[in-house]
Amino acid sequence: MVIIMLGAPGTGKGTIAKILSENLNIPQVSTGDIFRKHIKEGTELGKIAESYISKGQLVADDVTIGLVNSRLDEKDVQNGIILDGFPRTVKQAEALDEMLAKRNKKVDMVINLTTPEEEIIERIVNRRICSNPDCKTVYNIILNPPKKEGICDVCGHELIQRKDDNVETVKKRLQNYFMQTSPLVEYYEKQGTLKTEEVSKSINRLGGDVAKDILENLKR
Ligand code: ADP
Ligand code: ZN
Repeated sequence: MVIIMLGAPGTGKGTIAKILSENLNIPQVSTGDIFRKHIKEGTELGKIAESYISKGQLVADDVTIGLVNSRLDEKDVQNGIILDGFPRTVKQAEALDEMLAKRNKKVDMVINLTTPEEEIIERIVNRRICSNPDCKTVYNIILNPPKKEGICDVCGHELIQRKDDNVETVKKRLQNYFMQTSPLVEYYEKQGTLKTEEVSKSINRLGGDVAKDILENLKR
């Protein structure tokens, strides 16, 4: 099964993908996480990615598509994949359809997350992430703080704040989302795979609630 997480930054794509991944036993593949790993390790790809990410821009399509294309050949994703943060442009979506068709696969479900913009900004600047790459649990220092400041409840590793999680970069990332990524809503609507879910504290519905409903629907 191929599941895509769609939505602006800070809508809960990663949180929901993680829960689905653990319950469905399908790997979560986040292009953002892969780029951050390369940046940390100082690889060539990392250097290229950093030049875009630090400015709040999307990494070039050919770079991102190439990365996903090789990831799709790995053994662990043959029974399914949860794509978190890819595709983000129409060009990437078209490339993904082709890459999957070549492997006799298709996009099965697109989960489109929506959240009011003020809430997104508040959520991102207060976001802290577990630094353990096998954990990556996401906290919010106001809404969902860890029991001990700066430490992950689940695994005890240190929590970190992403460099691009500041107000200025978030505003750019939101602009990019509306210009480059939001056309994908129509793209997948036409394919009949889109499922839109609102994630907002104003309706008392956060990532965990949405994930639970999706899992229940899949069981039926
Ligand atoms: P968020 O959804 O909070 O912006 P991600 O971890 O998904 O966070 O992405 C972080 C950054 O990595 C993005 O701002 C962008 O620069 C880059 N990136 C991630 N996925 C893609 C993609 N599919 N295409 C282009 N750039 C990407
Ligand atoms: Zn942790």
